[in-house]
Amino acid sequence: MPLTPSRSDLSVLFITSEVHPLNKTGGLGDVSAALPAALRQLGVDVRLLIPGYPQVLAGLKYKRKVTELAGLSQFPPAALLSAKLPVSASVDVPVFIIDCPGLYRREGGPYMDVAGRDWPDNALRFGLLAKIGAILACDASPLAWRPQVVHCNDWQSGLTPAYLHFYRGIKAASLMAIHNLAFQGIFPPGTITQLGLPISSFDINGVEYHGRMSFLKAGLYYADHIVSVSPTYAREIQTAPLGFGFQGLLAGRRKHLNGIINGIDAVEWDPATDPCLVRNYTANKLAAKTANKRALQQALGLTVDPDILFFGAVGRFTQQKGYDLLLQVAPQLTKIPAQLVVLGSGEAALQQQMTMLAKTYPGKIAVRIGFDETLSHLIEAGADSFLMPSRFEPCGLNQMYSQRYGTPPLVHATGGLLDTVVDCTPATLADGSASGFLFHTMTPGHFLAAIRRVAIIYHDKPTWRRLQKNGMAKDFSWHPSAAAYREIYLALLSRLSK
Ligand code: ADP
Repeated sequence: MPLTPSRSDLSVLFITSEVHPLNKTGGLGDVSAALPAALRQLGVDVRLLIPGYPQVLAGLKYKRKVTELAGLSQFPPAALLSAKLPVSASVDVPVFIIDCPGLYRREGGPYMDVAGRDWPDNALRFGLLAKIGAILACDASPLAWRPQVVHCNDWQSGLTPAYLHFYRGIKAASLMAIHNLAFQGIFPPGTITQLGLPISSFDINGVEYHGRMSFLKAGLYYADHIVSVSPTYAREIQTAPLGFGFQGLLAGRRKHLNGIINGIDAVEWDPATDPCLVRNYTANKLAAKTANKRALQQALGLTVDPDILFFGAVGRFTQQKGYDLLLQVAPQLTKIPAQLVVLGSGEAALQQQMTMLAKTYPGKIAVRIGFDETLSHLIEAGADSFLMPSRFEPCGLNQMYSQRYGTPPLVHATGGLLDTVVDCTPATLADGSASGFLFHTMTPGHFLAAIRRVAIIYHDKPTWRRLQKNGMAKDFSWHPSAAAYREIYLALLSRLSK
């Protein structure tokens, strides 16, 4: 039974393991700031729950302790702090922080140590996040504020719906958002008792996954509703291979599964005001974009040439992102001729191969290993076209940033990329919808053919301008997506109250 709304407005607890600008490893960090802010603008009382990593504690001012939380299964004692995250000039999002020094206050990333190894106690670290999320979402909460809906994100908060399922009192409705099904939070079966879940949950109809337990499966199985971050990805995950083993479960739950495309932070990613750019520009002043191209070429040690086609790519170096394909086509890309900059970090082998690539093609290809927010903005503005050869992409943000920056993207036709990029064809040019380029088959040959297609249009200046302007005119703001989430929360409460 969900909590009966005590007020006419909607209250939501948004549980996340990362939030921009405090700590971000990928798109979830962006979403965790922008979606709650957009929901607050629609009148939804949404509050965040996040672990107290050092960056979170240092980045949030005026923290106040609201309660102590001790004696929770085998979890170490923790305190709950509250603060406000200033997301934009007009919106602050209230945040609850779990201060548990033994689990969260350490150097390294949120999921891995500095050497890139998963933290050995990740089950406890994110089990505690999920457990406290469930406590705050039920009538056992020590707080006066109660959410009607708990919005969980990826495996790190996947256990919250399970804890709520086994709680017999009054509780919030649960929504499980899938940002990436490839990360499943898999741990040994003994973890179940350590985390205070009943043994009966270790079942195919429960948290069991091929003899082990999966935090993500728990969320997908027990949540009242599931949302994935694009309509195409919502369909793709109901079949192999993109269901990553959960396709049967997801297909069975399709009545309670929607896809809602992510928006972008249209203030932070605005070429007219972006402070990371050398020169700001708009769709009507596109000539100013070239100053960014020059500055980027100079900063990267590439040959400064305003006319050469310049590709950019930014992202995590993993199998998912298809950078292996980019490595294969890069030599031919330089012969088009074209230049390339790649910014990213991740798998050691890809980092090495990328570094070698830049050494082999000085002046033509530049590679920067690491996470560099400023450079990523300058690449969006300074490159002519943005490459995303992802094998799969639940939503993707960079293809939206690049359309907004007049940098038409070339993307693999999958997930959110397919939902947000309109392929440049005579028909889409004629109806004004063309905004980038798609390739449908994940082979170097098809990718290279699409790269050549970009080159042809790039040198047809009037058509290229139309493509740039079409992309820049699109509305990628969070407003429509936040409104869709609000509708789902309301429909969920209505369904569960019957
Ligand atoms: P994912 O969440 O799968 O990593 P998204 O495209 O949804 O991919 O979001 C990635 C976000 O992280 C984007 O804002 C992107 O610019 C940013 N990003 C990824 N890698 C880097 C990097 N090395 N430097 C700066 N920003 C990065």
